[in-house]
Amino acid sequence: MTTVATRVALVTGASRGIGKAIALRLAKDGRHVVLCSRTEGPLNDLKHQIEQSGGKASVAVADVSDPASLTAAIEGTIKQFDRLDILVNNAGITKDGLVLRMSDADWDAVIKTNLTSAFVATRAAARAMMKNRFGRIVNIGSTSGVVGNSGQANYAAAKAGLIGFTKTIARELGSKGITANVIAPGFISTDMTDAIPPEYKDKITGMITVGRLGVVEDIAAAAAYVTADDAGYLTGQVLVVDGGMTMA
Ligand code: NDP
Repeated sequence: MTTVATRVALVTGASRGIGKAIALRLAKDGRHVVLCSRTEGPLNDLKHQIEQSGGKASVAVADVSDPASLTAAIEGTIKQFDRLDILVNNAGITKDGLVLRMSDADWDAVIKTNLTSAFVATRAAARAMMKNRFGRIVNIGSTSGVVGNSGQANYAAAKAGLIGFTKTIARELGSKGITANVIAPGFISTDMTDAIPPEYKDKITGMITVGRLGVVEDIAAAAAYVTADDAGYLTGQVLVVDGGMTMA
């Protein structure tokens, strides 16, 4: 039986929310997790937490909206481990507003952070994945990118763009043992959704088939599934994890 070296996974936006839950889950599943976001303190705390539970982690501070910073984090990881097996492009922001009032700056910031970053990270990671003939790329989309959402023209465009991007790289890299998929969460309780007024949250809950908002572990479980060694036949897909809200 051949044994596989510890898989190395880089997760952007790992300092809190969904990214943190994905990092914890991948570490629990035996991956060495490289924790990436702009703020070092929470990443160091998470590294400590993972190591306390017997897992492996390291920290790579980067701003994903800055291509040079993100590329350096990925290239540094590949240099350190001579591999990068799993890339989770999770970091994201919202700058909501109705389209008539949306500024160029809010449009550009969301596209850069949520879409361009996935392109930059994939470009930096793909060569090492090709060399090892193994790769799992996961882009965290949103149901907003599948069915649209009033007030989120920039965000929905970025998340829909991720779907076309992911299907394309799935086609380009599939024969090299690399898969690429989108996980599209619905409403998940995190800092991002905490700002939603309670009465609107109640309204949303009423639209969710399973009768509750999602928790970060719901998305982490999906990420564990699509990045598994034996998920090599799953590629170019959009896995909607929304409690049956859209059933798109
Ligand atoms: P949070 O706001 O809780 O966390 C966002 C994460 O992204 C933080 O770790 C933050 O780290 C990081 N981040 C933001 N901007 C940058 C940047 N420029 N460079 C590096 N890191 C950055 O968001 P969620 O956990 O809720 O969302 C995670 C992903 O899931 C996003 O892509 C989001 O669009 C998507 N999503 C979330 C949903 C939800 O209901 N919560 C629903 C659908 C999709 P730091 O500030 O430390 O840099």
